[in-house]
Order: sequence, then C-alpha cells, then structure tokens
Amino acid sequence: MRNVIIIGSGCAGLTAAIYSARANLSPLIIDGYEPGGQLTLTTDVENYPGFPDGILGPDLIENMRKQAKRFGAEFRSGAVTAVDFSKRPFTVAAGKETHECKALIVAAGASARLIGIESEKKLMGHGVSTCATCDGYFFRGKEIVVVGGGDSAMEESAFLSKFANKITLVHRRSEFRASKIMLDRMRKNEKITVLTPYVVEEVLDASKGAVEGVRVRHVDTKQTSIIPATGMFVAIGHNPNTAIFSGHLERDVAGYLHTRPGTARTNVEGVFAAGDVQDHVYRQAVTAAGSGCMAAIDAERWLESQHA
Ligand code: NAP
Repeated sequence: MRNVIIIGSGCAGLTAAIYSARANLSPLIIDGYEPGGQLTLTTDVENYPGFPDGILGPDLIENMRKQAKRFGAEFRSGAVTAVDFSKRPFTVAAGKETHECKALIVAAGASARLIGIESEKKLMGHGVSTCATCDGYFFRGKEIVVVGGGDSAMEESAFLSKFANKITLVHRRSEFRASKIMLDRMRKNEKITVLTPYVVEEVLDASKGAVEGVRVRHVDTKQTSIIPATGMFVAIGHNPNTAIFSGHLERDVAGYLHTRPGTARTNVEGVFAAGDVQDHVYRQAVTAAGSGCMAAIDAERWLESQHA
C-alpha cells in the first residue's frame, strides 16, 4: 500500500510529487494519457518565475520530473481506468495493475477541446491538429487555419507563422479573450489574417483523407466561404479530465473538480485535487505548481492527523 498516489504528471502532479517525496511519503505517480501534461505541447514559457530568458515547456517538465525522482518519487506510465474512493484504502486501477493508497492527489489536468464536427474528427492527425508544437513542422510553406480567440490561438498562430506562408485565424466573436500583449503580437504578424465572427462548418475534404480547405460561416449573415488550407489547428481551450471521477468526486457543470476554498481538499476525505483539473480560472503553469504544493501539504497533514 502506498502513502500517496498522484494521478497525472504535469506541473501540478510533479510539484505534488516533489513535496510529498521530500516529506518521505514515497509517492507513486501515474503518468496519464499525456505524460508531462500541457507544457510538453508548448515551446517557450516566458512567465514561469525564475527563468529570466524563458525555458522550453518540455525542459521545465523534465527538470521537475528529475527533481521528484531525486527525492524518491516513483513513476508508472499509463492512464487510470477506474477508481474506488468509497472505502479506505482507496484503489486505483491503471492498466493491468491495481494500486492501494492512504491518500490520493488528482492532478489529471485538462485536454484539448474540439469543435465537434464530423470532418474534424475524421481528419484529426491528417491535417487537423490540436498541437502546433507537435505538427507545425509539417506545414512549411503552406496555408493553414487556426481556430480560437484566446491566448492559445494567439500562441499557436505565432508559432505556426514560423512555418506556414499564410495563417487565417478564425474566431466566433469579434472580441478576443486573449491577453492584450498576445493580441498585439498577433496583429503585427503579417502572415496572420483575422476572420471574425466566423465558425467552422466543415473541414474539406474528409472523403479524400486530407485537408484541402475549411468552409466557414459568418455568425450573423450565415454566408459561407471556403478558405484554401492544407491544415487546421484547433486552439479553443481545454476540458478537465474528470470523467472517471464522475460519481466519486463533486464536479461543477463544466466538469472541473470542486475543492474547498483555500485548500486542495475534495468532498472525499483523503482525496485532494490540484492543477487544471480543478482550476478553470487561472490555468497557468505556476498556479498549477502552486496548487500541487498545496495538495501535497494538505495530504501530508491529513495523513498525520490519521496517524497513518
Ligand atoms: P480560452 O481562454 O478558454 O479561449 C478559448 C477560445 O476558444 C475562446 O476565444 C473561445 O471563444 C473559443 N472557443 C471555445 N469553444 C469554441 C468552439 N466550440 N468553437 C469555436 N470557438 C470556441 O482557452 P485558451 O486560449 O486555451 O487559454 C486558456 C488559459 O491558458 C488562459 O488563461 C490563457 O491565458 C492561458 N494561456 C496562456 C498562454 C501564455 O501566456 N503564453 C498561452 C496559452 C494559454 P469565446 O471567446 O467566444 O468564448
């Protein structure tokens, strides 16, 4: 039996791992579907304190992982498929293994949101992508569409402009959710054209198994037009990875886990939550790390109170 199991290995999970390993709790971290979390899908991180020249997301994660291992944290690859929090010890099934633990930290993060149209699904990985860092290189000299109006869409467009010849940024409103600095940078980028308020109606052409264009519709006039493109990047935010906790942990309408204000405690005693799985407001690497620290400290104190 483990003292602590941490579900998820992004910024929140790894920070919880560092703190609980340093507290001699020998945590087991279950990596999840996207080991390292969202930072592994990004490039330069310019706002994580302590790195005046910035740091690459994957490097930041690798450093955190090494730091956790140094204090005795253990890692398992694979994703959690079932949990039972109805009795103690808690059980967590991942792959063929079932683990038992006294305390548990959920840091399962959030995954890319999709528009939800059939052609997007069919062409995913064949010209449709949710990760510019992963796939941008394939679009050298091409024309592409980026969908979204938040910081992710700005960041992805800027990154993709290093490869593509032309980027059309399609957003469903004329106002942007993105921060001013990101928006200004995007507007100064000559390769990026903005199209608002438009929604994507269809990615062409699923029957050919490749992207040849994107049909968009004006939100008010309903008029449609086709943007020639060989790729489409969907950058419209994320959904929390909480489906397997349904019925076990309290969630809000959007699926984010509930934590008691000012703590990492969930509605189940001994189960804590950290990072994007419970935060739809800040969603930053540094706030995820901070909440991972809170979860580890809360778990440690709770275990102590149980004389465990
Ligand atoms: P976000 O801020 O939630 O923005 C999502 C965007 O996608 C919104 O503009 C939204 O439109 C649009 N959208 C959502 N669902 C859609 C749909 N079904 N069809 C079409 N459009 C849709 O998400 P985000 O951009 O991923 O950013 C998340 C957080 O990470 C933010 O706090 C952001 O500041 C942060 N972030 C920071 C950086 C950075 O500083 N380097 C980079 C990336 C992200 P509406 O506006 O109409 O709702």
